Amino acid sequence: MRAQSAACARVIAVMVIIGAGIYAPAQSGTDASQHAAARTTLLRQLRTQGISDERVLAALERVPREDFVRPQDRARAYANQALPIAGGQTISQPYIVALMSQLLELRGGERVLEVGTGSGYQAAILSVLAKEVYSIEIDPALAATAGERLQRLGYANVHVRAGDGFYGWPEVAPFDAVIVTAVAPQIPQRLVEQLRPGGRLVMPLSEGRDQVLVRARNQETGLAIERVTEVVFVPMRGAVRTPSPPLFAPRTP
Ligand code: SAH
Repeated sequence: MRAQSAACARVIAVMVIIGAGIYAPAQSGTDASQHAAARTTLLRQLRTQGISDERVLAALERVPREDFVRPQDRARAYANQALPIAGGQTISQPYIVALMSQLLELRGGERVLEVGTGSGYQAAILSVLAKEVYSIEIDPALAATAGERLQRLGYANVHVRAGDGFYGWPEVAPFDAVIVTAVAPQIPQRLVEQLRPGGRLVMPLSEGRDQVLVRARNQETGLAIERVTEVVFVPMRGAVRTPSPPLFAPRTP
């Protein structure tokens, strides 16, 4: 009798487990609480790494990074590491997203240009920190996915366009801040021309085999460039790689 009820209990337990597998919603309560715990750890880590802008920290707390990574990477969404996204590209490490955002010195009323939309995560962070975000992505498939994702998640002040960010977005310039999330051999002149006086531009530049993150300020006396730290980014593609690129963006369909 006892053996029978134990067996019965086992059967019920197996059924419950199978049931949980079948009926578990996409984001179970356990997922949500695991993400919350990992996010708290990440934020503590960012503070010790020197992120002190409370608005930036609040933005990283608020934007669900798990919605910008591949389904198989959701459990690692709040690890302080870069992750692969479609098209052989990467979503930057949270520390780098936070650092670049902090370097832009946003207070809430700015127009920001991003080159390299990728997953749209950095654009979502900027959307919380600034008034309008214009983001350009050279890979049309990535641009379409990120644009739809940002719209679905409610980031209505982010405008995504497919194209070569080398030319900036002259129709909506000037910008208070420009961020480039792919590494280039030099700062594209068009982006400097679209930067308001006093504006900040943050991007990685290659130096031989190394890459350094720089912040340029558009001052009356010219561009003042600060080197911030060594970084690793995917390469900026398109016109920046051609010896004498055309002056204006080729028409995009
Ligand atoms: N900011 C992104 C990370 C992007 S990785 C995020 O938060 O997920 C760099 C991105 O820059 C890639 O998606 C790549 O396709 C794009 N890119 C490379 N060269 C570009 C160019 N010339 N113009 C626009 N986007 C470019």
